[in-house]
Amino acid sequence: MARGKLIVLTGPSGVGKGTLMRMLLRRHPELYLSISVTTRTPRPGEIHGRDYYFVSRAEFDQMVANHQLLEWAEFAGNCYGTPRQPVEDQIRQGKWVVLEIELQGARQIFQSFPDALGIFILPPSMMELEHRLRHRASESEEAIVRRLERAKTEVGAANEFDIRVINDDLELALDQIEAVLFAPKEPLPETVAV
Ligand code: ADP
Ligand code: 5GP
Repeated sequence: MARGKLIVLTGPSGVGKGTLMRMLLRRHPELYLSISVTTRTPRPGEIHGRDYYFVSRAEFDQMVANHQLLEWAEFAGNCYGTPRQPVEDQIRQGKWVVLEIELQGARQIFQSFPDALGIFILPPSMMELEHRLRHRASESEEAIVRRLERAKTEVGAANEFDIRVINDDLELALDQIEAVLFAPKEPLPETVAV
């Protein structure tokens, strides 16, 4: 069976990664989205095993110690990691696996899987990013500030990725991601970092 492909989707918190991923998976159910473990508390509506595996810090540390995570990072006060086994199984079966992860984790993946395709999602502006984060109303003021602070570093690293997509118009951003994944020979217009 053909070898699978690893796709890393990164971008600052609130840029619309989750929204884009949900739309992408609806259009392409053959893609496998890795479900991460996190020590963050669930937001209203989030479901254990669908959105994340919500674990305690002790459980997370145990998974790190047992080498059960493909990568992991601390982000804005919480830990996040990609369970190794399901990703390796899916790739072995020839599936395309998508990791929606932050910058430090993405860098670890690029080290271990140099062939992984990195897609970075940019906001149209930092003001719009702040608007989206606040409008989502899922974090405390302190967490929003931490995420916005972190966003500057992440956006500054966008050039480390193979492709940059600006999520201004959702449909357009999705079309660009689809073009990269499914019609890689078509040249894409260069995007500029904000
Ligand atoms: P992330 O997963 O990157 O943290 P989300 O997918 O949760 O971001 O999106 C953050 C907020 O921005 C959500 O309220 C979402 O509905 C909104 N959003 C996402 N994409 C767009 C867009 N292109 N235009 C306007 N709002 C958007
Ligand atoms: P949130 O708390 O908003 O769900 O996620 C915060 C950040 O953690 C986002 O940038 C998200 O992409 C990232 N993230 C989610 N899962 C993982 C993971 O398994 N590993 C890493 N490194 N980052 C993750």
